[in-house]
Amino acid sequence: MVQTMPVNLESLTNLAKRRGFVYPSQELYGGLGAVYDFGPLGTMLKNNIRAAFIKRFVQEREDVVLVDTAVLTRQDVLRASGHEQSFSDPLVECTVCHQRFRADEKVPEAKDHEHKLAEAKQFNLMFATHVGATKEAGSLAYLRPETAQGMFVNFKQVLDTTRIKVPFGIAQVGKSFRNEITTGEFLFRVREFEIAELEYFVKPGTQDKVFTYWIEQWEQFFIDYGIKKENLKRHVHPKETLSHYSKGTTDLLFQFPMGLKELAGVANRGDYDLAQHEKATGTTLQFFDEQEKKAYRPFVIEPTFGLERAFLAFLTEAYKEYPYGRGSDAAVGIPTSPSGERRNEEQEIVLHLDPRLAPYKVAVFPLVKKEKLPEIAQKLVQELRKQWFVQYDESGSIGRRYRRADEIGTPWCITVDFDTQKDEAVTIRDRDTMKQERVKLNKVSDWIAKKLER
Ligand code: ATP
Repeated sequence: MVQTMPVNLESLTNLAKRRGFVYPSQELYGGLGAVYDFGPLGTMLKNNIRAAFIKRFVQEREDVVLVDTAVLTRQDVLRASGHEQSFSDPLVECTVCHQRFRADEKVPEAKDHEHKLAEAKQFNLMFATHVGATKEAGSLAYLRPETAQGMFVNFKQVLDTTRIKVPFGIAQVGKSFRNEITTGEFLFRVREFEIAELEYFVKPGTQDKVFTYWIEQWEQFFIDYGIKKENLKRHVHPKETLSHYSKGTTDLLFQFPMGLKELAGVANRGDYDLAQHEKATGTTLQFFDEQEKKAYRPFVIEPTFGLERAFLAFLTEAYKEYPYGRGSDAAVGIPTSPSGERRNEEQEIVLHLDPRLAPYKVAVFPLVKKEKLPEIAQKLVQELRKQWFVQYDESGSIGRRYRRADEIGTPWCITVDFDTQKDEAVTIRDRDTMKQERVKLNKVSDWIAKKLER
């Protein structure tokens, strides 16, 4: 076995920036605190995580529908939901340097002075704005701090327009905004992020069983897409740390490079939200049970995770640094110096991402830029691109091209070589095992489809 080195946050940030996964947003102007942009590869990876969520929890199920609700949210919605009053963190300010910290977290030491902390105040995390041309009362709105309210205010619409019955879920993936006090751990805590979650409506009395079911589903999702079981841990919130709407929350913690921290969570919101919106609007938000001939207000179990934290978790798990020369040089065609020694390169990075999450599924290389090899390779690329994102690369040695592809997690590299014209076959090399297989040109797409099938 080749030795790998442990990952730190800096290595991930560097790779993410260097290869175009994630850039600090608006860096040209000096950046915007804890706001990031996803570059070409990052956008593909994030899309694939979103797609995996939708496939597993909507497409493959009978009982979940998907919505996409507005970010701009009326003040009265977030007042009824309790966010205007309670969606805040305790904030302390140092009277010397005026830096602000969360009072419920450890305050980092300053280099040149001792912090003199003023009394803690509650700081509301919501971003406020105005809708319309005038800033009069009544025009105040918020950028939603969570996607959940979009599902609650559409509860009746979904019941009325679909044939779904309790128990059922409404899923959504969408942007949320929080003016976080402490940031600085790359994608872990950002001010603009995407939440993937479900509001799962159940008959009162059945919530505990459903709660356990969703914790298991959530864990299994991350495990199936590459997170090692031993890197996940459940954390049951004590009463004091529950959100204002929660009757019970279990977080799923992951071993991030900076420590064991929340990746996802499952909350029992009871009937809190529907009851609050009922009270505020006078509209009944209940489900009529045909069998029991009575109406009731369902309880809600909410499994949730942030796409950015999932992105960071998958990267953390996938990232491996190997000493230079991971594969046999001869096997991968890495050129050696005239003395026969390896060139002096420090390390090779491989992202062992689940193929379903990998930005590119395949890279196609002509061995050389002559003898019609590029034409054959391009033809194959065009065919494969009908189904997947495929990269074409003809520059540098094959070893170098393998390493470029490994570094961004491409699971398979296909080489078109001199024999291809004779045997109508290509060599497919596996990113993780580095094993090579000869596959007929007309069987390549079936071969890939089979590998991606799960
Ligand atoms: P934390 O305690 O870390 O602030 P939270 O308990 O407030 O998180 P939730 O309100 O449950 O988080 O949000 C749902 C999910 O959204 C979290 O499990 C997390 O994955 C993600 N998330 C929350 N806040 C952020 C953020 N500022 N940046 C990135 N992801 C976030």
